[in-house]
Amino acid sequence: MAKAEETVLQIDLAALEYNYQFLRQHLHTDTKFLAVVKAFAYGSDAQRIALKMQALGVDYFAVAYSKEGIALRKAGIHKPILVLHPLPLHFDELIQHCLEPSIYSAMVLRKFLNTAKRHGQTKYPLHLKFNTGLNRLGFWENDVDLIAKELKGRTEIKVASIFSHLAASEDVNEKDFTMRQIKSFENIAIKIDQTLGYRPFRHLLNTSGILNYSTAQYDMVRSGIGLYGYGNDPEFDRHLKPVATLKTVISQIHKIEPGETVGYNRAFASDSYRMTATLPLGHADGIGRQYGNGQTYVSINGKKAYIIGNVCMDMIMVDITDIDCKEGDEVIIFGKEFSAENFASSANTISYELLTGISQRVTRVFLEH
Ligand SMILES: *Cc1c(COP(=O)(O)O)cnc(C)c1O
Repeated sequence: MAKAEETVLQIDLAALEYNYQFLRQHLHTDTKFLAVVKAFAYGSDAQRIALKMQALGVDYFAVAYSKEGIALRKAGIHKPILVLHPLPLHFDELIQHCLEPSIYSAMVLRKFLNTAKRHGQTKYPLHLKFNTGLNRLGFWENDVDLIAKELKGRTEIKVASIFSHLAASEDVNEKDFTMRQIKSFENIAIKIDQTLGYRPFRHLLNTSGILNYSTAQYDMVRSGIGLYGYGNDPEFDRHLKPVATLKTVISQIHKIEPGETVGYNRAFASDSYRMTATLPLGHADGIGRQYGNGQTYVSINGKKAYIIGNVCMDMIMVDITDIDCKEGDEVIIFGKEFSAENFASSANTISYELLTGISQRVTRVFLEH
């Protein structure tokens, strides 16, 4: 890979394949695998990631919103696409592009039934989402009878699957709570099979669920962050390969005299001679202000260069006083050695937020091997 001459997010598709194989090792061979590619595949590139996963034989995809699914269809994704949080406003387009909705409330169910009927559909696949403790989206365990009543005699749809989402699958201290969620999901599944008279397939686990609760894999698992190389635990991170590397270049080097300040609001005040490097990325690229003022560092020629002063919209300044470097040298913001998880945690956030926040202004480049 050529050295970065601008800010680029490098996407390593071989690492993606490696992570997929690693996650598969925790599963039975017949367990289906859903690749979560919402939010531009966690900030990387949904189309390239989905095409690669489709080629690797993944069974299902998930996005959050209908428009993300439509973009995948236009890119040549023909596998089923589950829309996790569809809004009734987009049900027509969703059906036109053969996307499969997660149905999470009675109101949404009625609206979808009407839309499916209007489109002359029969047995259109939908997925019932149950809330087992996350308290975010979904029917409750005791809604099963209500659902059965709504669905009685409605031939326009078929319940393809039922699913739920764990609230703390990465946290071993919450094992009892997670086990209660699993139990609740099983109760729901039994009731659904009885009341519908057929067996929709079942899925519950996200990445940390796969790694910590593989006995609850049922018929399918849904993985996002693990595919991109993070496992919410240093132990699992050791086995995974970060897919995304954010790199940039030194635009200019400054010599700062004692008493001078650097950046907006004069937030960094120097009490000695310092060397600083200005980098062409800022909060508009996804490196938020929380990373500024010495909170975290980037890597220049293998050394830590702390971000000083306030992060600007299009630039950050880093302290290179003790680093042998020059204008034009490459800078790693995060990647394989300096992980996005470490970078994010230095400012009290998580890899998910950092990765999905890398803006569309940043050029994506792809490594195939
Ligand atoms: C985002 C999401 C996932 C993926 O979670 P990871 O922790 O990234 O594996 C799975 N299921 C649902 C319902 C989600 O919203």
